Amino acid sequence: MIFAPDVAAALGAAVELANSQEPDTLTSLGVLRAFYVDWGYTGSRPRTTAELEAVRAIRPRLQQLLTADRDTAVSLINIILAEQQAVPRLVRHDQFDWHIHAISDDRPMHERVLVETAMAMIDFVRSGEMSRLRLCAARDCDDIVLDLSRNRSRRFCSTTCGNREAQAAFRARRSR
Ligand SMILES: [Zn+2]
Ligand SMILES: [Zn+2]
Repeated sequence: MIFAPDVAAALGAAVELANSQEPDTLTSLGVLRAFYVDWGYTGSRPRTTAELEAVRAIRPRLQQLLTADRDTAVSLINIILAEQQAVPRLVRHDQFDWHIHAISDDRPMHERVLVETAMAMIDFVRSGEMSRLRLCAARDCDDIVLDLSRNRSRRFCSTTCGNREAQAAFRARRSR
């Protein structure tokens, strides 16, 4: 299963936001600006703490959607699409070939993130790929892992967690 680039980007951004809660790292406009740049939200520069607060406030909802079982995810997706009055249309801009936009670029960023996450999750639901979203396998980490690898081999949210677990396994073998 190959996912469209905008599906990968939307879910990658949503996972990063959900994982920024514990410990809380989305604490300034500078961090939010870096998030926009990293995930290609071009033409949007966060200006107000109200915008920062609004993006912070959707994180529990993203977390809930990204970790939901398939049927629950469907209800959450449908609620977001209805509430935001999403209207999918095909667009082509900058270097990107035809892809779907379901919300206008001038809407507040937290609404765009919600809709783009919901639209991307549609692909996961329809293709039965929900298991590509799971919790990090590190013992002391509850962050979400987005596994888009071909052989579904990704177990950790970050190389930090992967390294820590490898070290723990190494120590456990030595002390046997
Ligand atoms: Zn676009
Ligand atoms: Zn982790």
